[in-house]
Amino acid sequence: MVTETWTPEETYALGRRLGEAAKPSSVYCLNGDLGVGKTVFTQGFADGLGVEGPVDSPTFTIIKQYDDGRMPFYHFDVYRIGDISEMDEIGYEDCFYGDGVSLVEWGGLIEEILPEDVITVKIEKELEKGFDYRRITVEGLE
Ligand code: ADP
Ligand code: MG
Repeated sequence: MVTETWTPEETYALGRRLGEAAKPSSVYCLNGDLGVGKTVFTQGFADGLGVEGPVDSPTFTIIKQYDDGRMPFYHFDVYRIGDISEMDEIGYEDCFYGDGVSLVEWGGLIEEILPEDVITVKIEKELEKGFDYRRITVEGLE
């Protein structure tokens, strides 16, 4: 599924729709360069799960958990991860294989530990189409 957005609000709205439809024990891998809109998408996603927020990038903590939504929400940002073993220390398995929903910003960096049925969301700019244009490709949703 490919969605084109021209404003942050549209990216947020797509995230919210996917958050509304998210099922327990699912893992979302979010890829795209710095500043492309991963956190904007995630904020909409959290909204769709009923999380009140505020939701910001857990860049320095790697994970933030929200328990006030429809199910537990685990927001990872693995941009600054040094070694995959840090994920073990965080206890990622309890998140990925528990009853909540996990979303991993920069998930491509920890590809080897992502479950087979991961849902991937790729956000890309295309400057010829304007500074705020984004192409968002979602794969793995049945
Ligand atoms: P990331 O988490 O990928 O580093 P952020 O979500 O923190 O990026 O920031 C994205 C920035 O891009 C925000 O300042 C947002 O307002 C801006 N932006 C402009 N156009 C869009 C768009 N179509 N979708 C998402 N964000 C956009
Ligand atoms: Mg971010």
